[in-house]
Amino acid sequence: MKKIITFLIKNKLFVAIVFLISLSSWSTVALANANSVVVESDSVNVRVGPGLSYSNMGQVKKGDKLAILAEKNKWYQVRLSGDKIGWVASWLIDNTEVSSATNKVGIVKVPNTTVFKKNNSDSEVLGTIEQSQKVTVMYQEQDWSQILYKGTAAWVKTQFIQGTQETSGSSNSSNSNNDIKTVTVTQANTKLRIEPNDSGRIVKSVSVGKKFDYLSKSGNWYKVRDSDGSVGYVASWLVTISGTKSAVKSAATNISEATIVIDPGHGGTDVGAESQSKTYEKNFTLKYAKAIKADLEKTGARVVLTRPGDNTKSLGDRARLSSKIEADAYISLHFDSSDQSDSGSGVTTYYYEKNKDGQLATDINDQLKNLAIDNRGTQQKDLYVLHYNSQPSVLLELGYINSSKDYKHIKSDSYEEKVAQDVTNGLKEYFK
Ligand SMILES: [Zn+2]
Repeated sequence: MKKIITFLIKNKLFVAIVFLISLSSWSTVALANANSVVVESDSVNVRVGPGLSYSNMGQVKKGDKLAILAEKNKWYQVRLSGDKIGWVASWLIDNTEVSSATNKVGIVKVPNTTVFKKNNSDSEVLGTIEQSQKVTVMYQEQDWSQILYKGTAAWVKTQFIQGTQETSGSSNSSNSNNDIKTVTVTQANTKLRIEPNDSGRIVKSVSVGKKFDYLSKSGNWYKVRDSDGSVGYVASWLVTISGTKSAVKSAATNISEATIVIDPGHGGTDVGAESQSKTYEKNFTLKYAKAIKADLEKTGARVVLTRPGDNTKSLGDRARLSSKIEADAYISLHFDSSDQSDSGSGVTTYYYEKNKDGQLATDINDQLKNLAIDNRGTQQKDLYVLHYNSQPSVLLELGYINSSKDYKHIKSDSYEEKVAQDVTNGLKEYFK
């Protein structure tokens, strides 16, 4: 497998591909304190606490209107009929319909204040509001206020509104990293490149005013992330950098709050390495990914696979998914192979950037030490899905598929279950 990945890096075959998976409904997660919501899915479980690990106390149906009392870990506490109180996952309900019963009122300070669909100035403009007009403010973050606009939820910049104050309590997503800055492009036709130099392959060209999230500095280049999840480098002399907090969410501090991407290596036309009995790496990575997902979901974590079945997926797509949904952790699954059958053995945990990925690698690898296959430790390596990943990420080589010694474990249910438990326990440790 590594041959394929390093080949792709060396030859820069990576092509930016339009991100295909629609994740639009996830953007509702950040919106909190709207007073009531309407259930969007056919039926949604109501749980006794804010996470999938809490027991089920009933269901609500599509179209049901729920009063929201509080928000925690992307779950809403709601009041049900009979005055029962329970929790529903915020991403399963629609929060565009809101009532204004107990919200604060603010006054617009600036003429023609722009109203946006999302808390992001790149989002759709819904209209403008005249100076001195009163607006109902439902929820505030540092820079953005959610208001009631023509019967739906919309956003305006907090600085343009007078007479409101910071909401307290349930804004658990607003405590983002102060170091994160916004990079704004100041020159036409600026290139986002995959390497921090003028010969780095171009990911995309962007125009003046384009904003990126700042990730890190590399010489005279900034590593940045676009809102579509693309990660690359822009020349520092073509941009300005501001101290404005970006919309990057804070890291989860408990696994039940976490969003985790599991990346089953290879897939579709890329079969990966082969065992001596001609079974493919791509099938084992998917099987293990599903086992890990099932185990992780018991903790309440949200788990997303980079491919749901036997699909061909570019390395760029895989890394971008992690950035796009701001995953708290990204785990790529592979099985090693050696040039000669039976000449390799062992489990290895790879990471790329020590600061970003090192702790995740250590916490997961510590759990993998008691497997039936020997552990080769954590190792630093420049692998594409780690290098172009803005989120904490590791790549696991869970044994040599072309070694008969390792393969007898790889194909066994007991080894697979132990790996799933170990990865889950490693992540629990990581989010402590
Ligand atoms: Zn592989």
